[in-house]
Amino acid sequence: MKKILLLIPLFILIVGCTHPTTNPAIESIIEEQSNQIIGIHYPVTGIQKLDQTIEKYVKNIQTEFKQKHSSKLTLKDPAELNIDYEYWIIGKQYYNIVLTTFVTSPSMAHPIHEIKTFVYDADQQIFLNLDHIITPNWGNLKKILIENHKSCIFPQQLDLILNNDNVNNIKFTFTNHSITLYFNPYEIANGSCGIIKQEIPYSNFSIPIIEEETTQNTFEYQYKERNLSITKPTIALTFDDGPSKYTNDIIELLHEYDANATFFILGNKVEIYQDTLRKSLQYGNELGNHSYNHKSLTKLSLEELKEQIDTTNEIVKKTLDYEIRFLRPTYGAINQKLRKETNMEIVLWNVDTQDWKLRNSKKIAEKALHDIKDGKTILMHDIYKSTFESLKIILPELKKQGYQIVTVSELKEIQKLRNETKNG
Ligand code: ZN
Repeated sequence: MKKILLLIPLFILIVGCTHPTTNPAIESIIEEQSNQIIGIHYPVTGIQKLDQTIEKYVKNIQTEFKQKHSSKLTLKDPAELNIDYEYWIIGKQYYNIVLTTFVTSPSMAHPIHEIKTFVYDADQQIFLNLDHIITPNWGNLKKILIENHKSCIFPQQLDLILNNDNVNNIKFTFTNHSITLYFNPYEIANGSCGIIKQEIPYSNFSIPIIEEETTQNTFEYQYKERNLSITKPTIALTFDDGPSKYTNDIIELLHEYDANATFFILGNKVEIYQDTLRKSLQYGNELGNHSYNHKSLTKLSLEELKEQIDTTNEIVKKTLDYEIRFLRPTYGAINQKLRKETNMEIVLWNVDTQDWKLRNSKKIAEKALHDIKDGKTILMHDIYKSTFESLKIILPELKKQGYQIVTVSELKEIQKLRNETKNG
């Protein structure tokens, strides 16, 4: 048997990383039906009261969307719901969470764009209002908002909202050196101005902020060398929509079976799961781009499309010092604009396990193994426990059948070498 050695450059990377007080996870709900597509991402902090409140908020939006767009009429395009998050902790106990909701539908004149903030004190176990953290100078806040959004703001509406009686309803977050105020479209301004977001430098907080010590963690890794054969039957394994709390188990299992995969990841989860992703790279897996927050790429403006792709590549480069080569578009949807505007290689699949729908490890394994053949690319999603469980059936079976399980790059390299051997 002719053996080839695919050499992957050896890296040793020393990085500093800050560890949050708890080990957070990001929950993603991704669904595709003919008349509605859903991409929802929200943090799970491990703090019960906070998590329940966030989950209730998200589930309400999801239920309402499903009811509204459940019509059996086939629309030209499906309605789309997307909820994305931002999440950070100040001091040791102040959790800041921003959820941004987008709803678009061919039956709606304008998309819905809405923001919600949660600021939670994990020590006191209470949600904080703006006046818990600062003594608001209403006149000054109004002045700053009007100055920065002159052509948008309706001053009387702003007056109604920015005062002591309404302080419960003011959406805000904070950092060590600023507060940020958020207003939904039409709340204080012309709807065409969208969400109004204003950061204001601030240091005089009414709450004690104990600086979290940042521990410098050194993490060394080196890519392993893979001993692959061009004559052995080969399949590429790919996972979309992660990383998630199951990704670590999946990469450990792959490692056990000397298998590698390409993970098409979402940019909005890279920072939180950076240690998992580092380990994944160390084990020889490959990372691909699956957008920033799983919006349907073909429906975006050129600017939004670029942002979804570029932000993800940049955050991976910055966080992991890794260059992404492949793009897998969300919902597998490609159009001219997408092809034209990216010079990344687009990678789809030819075995769909339907794991997101089946959620049953035996059925997923059956589907994966049913039409397996040399050279195929399998689609799975590393955000479901049943997918992880199904790999305990799939991997030993593929090994038994003599398959080597590789990344997309490795499959392409093997196919190239096979062609050269054939033609040479
Ligand atoms: Zn996806």
